[in-house]
Amino acid sequence: MTDAPLKLFNSLTRQLEVFEPVHAGEARVYTCGPTVYNYQHIGNMRAYVFADTLGRTLQWKGYKLTHVVNITDVGHLTSDADEGEDKMERMAAREGKSAWDIARFYQEDFERDLGRLNVQPKQHPRATEYVEAMIDWGKSIADKHCYELESGLYFDVSTVADYGRLARAVTEDGEGRIESVEGKRNAADFAIWRKTPAGETRQMEWDSPWGRGAPGWHLECSVMGEALLGFPFDIHTGGIDHREIHHPNEIAQNQAFCCNAKDDGGLDDPKNSGAKIWMHNNFLVERSGKMSKSSGEFLRLQLLVDRGYHPLAYRLMCLQAHYRSELEFSWEGLGAALTRLKRMVLAVYQLDDLCHGNWKSDDRVHPKVFDLRDKFDAAIGDDLNTPVALTALEELFGLKKVSHHDRLDAVRDLDAVLGLNLLKLTRTDLRIRPVSATITEAEIEAALARRKEARAAKDFAASDAIRDELAASGVEVMDGDPLGWEWKLS
Ligand code: AMP
Ligand code: ZN
Repeated sequence: MTDAPLKLFNSLTRQLEVFEPVHAGEARVYTCGPTVYNYQHIGNMRAYVFADTLGRTLQWKGYKLTHVVNITDVGHLTSDADEGEDKMERMAAREGKSAWDIARFYQEDFERDLGRLNVQPKQHPRATEYVEAMIDWGKSIADKHCYELESGLYFDVSTVADYGRLARAVTEDGEGRIESVEGKRNAADFAIWRKTPAGETRQMEWDSPWGRGAPGWHLECSVMGEALLGFPFDIHTGGIDHREIHHPNEIAQNQAFCCNAKDDGGLDDPKNSGAKIWMHNNFLVERSGKMSKSSGEFLRLQLLVDRGYHPLAYRLMCLQAHYRSELEFSWEGLGAALTRLKRMVLAVYQLDDLCHGNWKSDDRVHPKVFDLRDKFDAAIGDDLNTPVALTALEELFGLKKVSHHDRLDAVRDLDAVLGLNLLKLTRTDLRIRPVSATITEAEIEAALARRKEARAAKDFAASDAIRDELAASGVEVMDGDPLGWEWKLS
């Protein structure tokens, strides 16, 4: 049996790198979490499925994992250019609730969705719990790296080496982007602290040496990452949009915090960025614009469930694409993922039946099982190539002349990485009634039982009539379905 090296793509060096932990035997990972001013869309959830698969892989490889996913409950503005309103305050005003209540509500919803996607529990620190630490951090870098304007304290990006390297979007001015707060020294400078404008009050504001106000958005991740994982930690993740602004700014703050002189803090040594490896998942895209939270009925996990799709079909859909590839959402694609998941669950049922629930493994595991584990290991070690890893899992189901115990054990082993919950999912779990369905599951089962009796009595007219009745209620009877599902809602 081999233990393939774990190669991961580092966005900072734009290279595959073999994972070598900062602390022997440990893996410390920070994932930029949600801004809890609204529900998460399924694109956001792709970022957490990816981070979870990474975390599971590190555990599977034997590392003790510490994984932080922060909760942004203050500071994220509607525009990335340090302008606009605070997203939390705006939603609070719109819903007539306190910003704190909004944050709790959407955090809970987010965590429920994580559970439904079988994302393992992680630490979820809230930005508002770290404001004092953010002020202390600001104080420690203010003299050398910041300047004050009427609107707040700003970070001068020219004070650190290699600003914007992560984004690779260097303009002639040597800056990653243009933006428009009056008086900035460099276009890319960003807020460390935003003063509450005179005459206004915010629901979320704190006293600081730079006036009453709230922290800039980028600061929280630097502060929580350092506080909970220590610099440098192993891996920092986020969606690919963060590669352009949020993470370059986090990195600049980290360099300012960690490095005494500009020349010592360059990014040729990725450790100066605060993390050894920066990883980014590509976007889930949808043509009609339903991913946008401003589009009314946007694509939430709950919408998928309401339409009869199990959340783990969405997890599988994510795993079917490499995390660095764009993934296009379609209902057909989701349907295909659900069918594939059903096939896997059915295969587990069959293995389980053969084992009669007895898990005892044979003394010697068949070499073919080892070969497939190696294939899986090589795929997952190749920058988390989950599409190939999935095929290794499926080959396992089909192995001939290999004990079913061994196959079931191996499925459990590989699913620890994929997180599809294959050994616990039941057929009933996967048969979700869309909210639009007018018939209950009990009524369907009762009708099917009557139909079975009619068929046993060779009363085919009655059997056909029941079938038609069910069809009229949107239930398709699937006689002879190779997957063994007796009915589905159409
Ligand atoms: P936000 O709450 O906007 O900070 O986003 C939470 C996470 O979702 C971040 O890591 C984003 O980069 C990521 N993200 C946002 N939109 C998408 C998308 N369409 N596909 C994948 N990830 C996304
Ligand atoms: Zn962040």
